[in-house]
Amino acid sequence: MTVHLALGSNLGDRQRNIETAYKLIEERVGRVTSSSAFYFSKPVGFASEHDFVNSACEVRTDLNAEELLEAIQGIERDMGRVQKSDSGGYADRIIDIDWILAGERVINTPRLVVPHPRMHERDFVLLPMNEIAPNAIHPLLQKSVRELTEELSSDNAIRDLT
Ligand code: AMP
Repeated sequence: MTVHLALGSNLGDRQRNIETAYKLIEERVGRVTSSSAFYFSKPVGFASEHDFVNSACEVRTDLNAEELLEAIQGIERDMGRVQKSDSGGYADRIIDIDWILAGERVINTPRLVVPHPRMHERDFVLLPMNEIAPNAIHPLLQKSVRELTEELSSDNAIRDLT
């Protein structure tokens, strides 16, 4: 299957962390057939002085859904991510990998929800996605990534690094 993943890092050498994650995705998940530029964004959902670097990619994989989730969680773990903050909420992280789309397939299990339930409200997901997959369709909202990007509120603080 062909999937889209979103990556984010707000600790350490953030661009290098994303590049390392891409290398591990190639090794463990499948061929990265396209990837976006790097974007800067402010933390959402928690206060931190550390901005994020974000990127999105398309990957061709032979893994099934469960294996793919385990693979991306394994990469997060191996790169030294500490799970969650003490309060169980959001926290600074070396790497975060979210599964955004699985084509027009819908997955809804206790561990995995695809399309990612907050993708359509996140500029740091949609702007990189719009660069590589503007015509990809959100199967539940029946809108393209381009349409979802246009519907974002205009006060987003993201900028293209390139
Ligand atoms: P986070 O630590 O913020 O990346 O969230 C990871 C948790 O979200 C894990 O418990 C996953 O099982 C769950 N999850 C549900 N849907 C997704 C998705 N589409 N991509 C990544 N993690 C997901």
